[in-house]
Amino acid sequence: MGLSVTILGSNSALPTSERNPTAQVLNASGRFFLIDCGEGTQLQLRRNKVRFGRIHHIFISHLHGDHVFGLPGLISSLGLLGRTKDLHIYALADLEPLMKPWLNYFCRDLPFKVAFHSFVPEEQTVIYEDSSVEVVTIPVEHRIPTAGFLFREKPKERKINKEKCDYYQVPLRWLPRLKKGEDYAGEDGSLIANDILTFPPPPSKSYAYCTDTRFSEKVISAVKNADLLYHESTFLEDEEELAGKTFHSTARQAAEVAKRANVGRLLLGHFSSRYRDLKPFVEEAKRVFENTLIAEEGSTFEV
Ligand SMILES: [Zn+2]
Ligand SMILES: [Zn+2]
Repeated sequence: MGLSVTILGSNSALPTSERNPTAQVLNASGRFFLIDCGEGTQLQLRRNKVRFGRIHHIFISHLHGDHVFGLPGLISSLGLLGRTKDLHIYALADLEPLMKPWLNYFCRDLPFKVAFHSFVPEEQTVIYEDSSVEVVTIPVEHRIPTAGFLFREKPKERKINKEKCDYYQVPLRWLPRLKKGEDYAGEDGSLIANDILTFPPPPSKSYAYCTDTRFSEKVISAVKNADLLYHESTFLEDEEELAGKTFHSTARQAAEVAKRANVGRLLLGHFSSRYRDLKPFVEEAKRVFENTLIAEEGSTFEV
């Protein structure tokens, strides 16, 4: 139950022998959401034992190759595996006309439908919603239109205090109403406050994904109090100028965002291929924000 994220790729731009371009899979109580789909994603899904068939929704932050080149291969494999359920892709409007010729040429007899949903990256909009989770876009600042994604659990139901319900002889049919927060009204006219009969619900968690962005005040306000923030740190502090020029961030800037947004933990990723050792990233960030982790490929983080 709850949210957990598995890192499939955390490199920027180029695949290297040690790291893959960006992709992650978020498990929300058994629903699997793929976030970005860099080259090699399907191999990484296999290595990390995520079943392809469980992914029904894919979120693409922007249309730079290191975030989308894995899509055609993954879709083709899903077809070969005999998928029949619709596959939903949430991305900028440009993706659909780019992908359609590929799908028409290489995946002509696809046994399932690929549904494209577009969003406006400058806005904070709910782009996906089910009974337990919603996904909201986060405006970020990159060279081309790009969005981050905030995955948040909806408020959960209150827990029944069995002992108290027995004591007050609350009929079973009332339990669903108590879980939703209603006070109990007995047939004899008695009224018992909900918080006597129930315990507070477990906290609703949130995961913010912000890749390919320079340091941005907009990001800080959009990810306020998130339990876990994935923020790109393409460079170290000594390349701050280059980071600014290429619309990327340093580890220290990512930590600054985490600190000012008061998030629970910070996950650093989208590392430039020029760095083999990632330890300096976490050291640099920890000087500003202690609760920092490296988005190491193959690792799973509970939110
Ligand atoms: Zn990138
Ligand atoms: Zn980019």
